[in-house]
Amino acid sequence: MSVDSDIFDRQKRLDGWNQEKVAAQKVMVVGAGALGNEAVKLLLQLGVRRISLVDFDVVSRANLNRCVFFSEEDAATEVLKAEAIAFKAVKQWPDAVVEPVIESVEKLSEETWGEFGFVFGCLDNLGARLHANAQSYGKTVFIDGGTSGFMGKVQVVRSPGPCFECGLSKKDYGLLWKKYNCVGDVVDWIDSKMPALATTTSLVAAVQVNEFVKIAHGLENESLAGKYFFFNGMTGQSSVYGVPLRKDCPIHLH
Ligand SMILES: [Zn+2]
Repeated sequence: MSVDSDIFDRQKRLDGWNQEKVAAQKVMVVGAGALGNEAVKLLLQLGVRRISLVDFDVVSRANLNRCVFFSEEDAATEVLKAEAIAFKAVKQWPDAVVEPVIESVEKLSEETWGEFGFVFGCLDNLGARLHANAQSYGKTVFIDGGTSGFMGKVQVVRSPGPCFECGLSKKDYGLLWKKYNCVGDVVDWIDSKMPALATTTSLVAAVQVNEFVKIAHGLENESLAGKYFFFNGMTGQSSVYGVPLRKDCPIHLH
């Protein structure tokens, strides 16, 4: 085979690259919005071929400036986001299996989480991210991404290290309490739409999937496991912080 006929030739030139290890991974992407689109695109480009994609929402025009897999037609016909991505992804990568799971994250069974080596948090609300964190802990690697305008954040959670909830402040808990009523239903009027930029989305998803690349290759010490990455697109600065294991974190209380 000539060097230009192998799709993955250029990445295989990286020292220590193992295409079989990447291809063998089974991953779940929770959230098929802006981050989910980018994460799925990158995972497929790397050669990941088994992706479950969880989302129950439909495509709207306001998604189109940040979502590579969505079209005007998808928005006009209100196609389910996960199905739109799965349909187009397989056209581009016919050997891939992208399974749309039309469900809220909270309704996935406990066993589901353990079926995947990696879970990508591509969610836009704190409640769903906390749920994904709690369900992933001890079962899989959870790589959470978040954006707000020019700001981006990625946290990598792997037990027995610190989790996403360890990094939660009292203010975050306050916001969470305000967002949910006493029976756990989401109070929509608190949930204002966050400002979002395609550039920040691409960058955050790229960092999430880059962490996957390292951990899938056994390079955990070089990864952000137990840490989070913060990017300020306005100043161009990025930082990596350690997350202390919080003693009263409900995820670690035994
Ligand atoms: Zn914790």
